[in-house]
Amino acid sequence: MLSPRVNIVLIAVVTAALLLTVASALAQQNGIPAPAPDLQIAAALKEISPAQIQKSIDQLVSFENRQTLSSDIPPLGGRGINAAAEWIQGEFQKYSSQCGDCLEVRTDQFLQPASSRIPQPTTITNIYAVLRGTDPANAGRMYVVTGHYDSRNSDPNDIRNPAPGANDDASGTAVSLECARVLSKHRFPATIIFLTVAGEEQGLYGSAHFAKVSKAVGWDIEAVLNNDIVGGDRTPGDADRNPHVVRVFSEGIPASASAEELQQIRSLGGESDDPSRQLARYVAGVATQYLSAADFQAMLVFRHDRYLRGGDHASFNEQGYAAVRLTEYRENYNHQHQNVRTENGIEYGDLAKFVDYDYTANVARLNAATLASLASAPAPPVDVRLLTKQLQNDSTLVWKASPGGLATGYEVLWRDTTAPDWQHAKNVGNVTQVTVPISKDNVFFAVRAIDAKGHRSLAIVPQPER
Ligand SMILES: [Zn+2]
Repeated sequence: MLSPRVNIVLIAVVTAALLLTVASALAQQNGIPAPAPDLQIAAALKEISPAQIQKSIDQLVSFENRQTLSSDIPPLGGRGINAAAEWIQGEFQKYSSQCGDCLEVRTDQFLQPASSRIPQPTTITNIYAVLRGTDPANAGRMYVVTGHYDSRNSDPNDIRNPAPGANDDASGTAVSLECARVLSKHRFPATIIFLTVAGEEQGLYGSAHFAKVSKAVGWDIEAVLNNDIVGGDRTPGDADRNPHVVRVFSEGIPASASAEELQQIRSLGGESDDPSRQLARYVAGVATQYLSAADFQAMLVFRHDRYLRGGDHASFNEQGYAAVRLTEYRENYNHQHQNVRTENGIEYGDLAKFVDYDYTANVARLNAATLASLASAPAPPVDVRLLTKQLQNDSTLVWKASPGGLATGYEVLWRDTTAPDWQHAKNVGNVTQVTVPISKDNVFFAVRAIDAKGHRSLAIVPQPER
């Protein structure tokens, strides 16, 4: 029998342990509280218009068939992919003329050699607009939003019959356009690129070319947001759709990793910590910062893409760039890659009437807020290392200062090895080395740069220094 005093102590210890467990569970659920929104970014998001997005999608659908293989046929009275490309270029130019020529509107055009879904060499045209960063020391950092403007029906090579592609992927193209229209009214220290690509349905050819050329010329692309099927399909009677959630798919292990890098990932348990996954976590954090939890949030999917499907983010991943895919919560396969028809009372085809423009506008807000946050934030710290020369229960992190002069300090992030997202952020001040009384064996660490206004860089996971 224990004395009453021992009993009281035991009860106190058990209660404290329970409270700690609850607190830790809450921290895991909620992650790190978001800083207050940047008022410039919040104001820009108010400009995003479902009506404007509807106009863009309707216009893209009006070209009837945006099949990539139609590119070598002259535009037939406003029909085909060339007509769509001309229209997109005109839209970017229009937005640019409204911001004192602030956008550089460019094309990336090339001849794609024949392959399984390219019967003969075919011209592919990517169209993009560059909002150059205002700070020469930061303008080299680039953030890309992309969607594919080509479309297809049941036959991947059919250039004759309608392939409206309203959701797949006029919706993603409209997101790039809307981000360009709204963000071009603002200025950011780093550079934002609004991209629309073709050749996706034939094998990701447009994005593959753009990513390869970017790598070859040494562009410092720090993040790519690929929006593909973000129309929030609103088929009547579909009770399982969720108009408040967009999925964010990300690879956890870099597609470009060498055998040596893979070996290190295996030995350190780094399977969920590549730059694309940090970007996905960043997007989810921006959603809690700028959008109401009841309206719209990001659902992280720790998988590179859906089963049986691929997308343009893969082209960037293969070149070593961080890239994620945003896609509606629940897809309706009757409205993708289908000839427009009605069979047994079911309507097939990717028609504009199934697009929820309010949903696509929320996706555009999330993209715009992410691009603006990243382009406002300091560059991430460089060469982040975790000292592992000795067996120690403390952990020492060292890094080189964020280049570009925007950082006013740094945060060390950590999470349990089983937690999906960062749970703790410690502001360590404007230093380049810190020791924290936490065992590196028990958590994952990262470091990010911050500025006085609460902008945060992408998180960088340390490399071990032996
Ligand atoms: Zn698509």
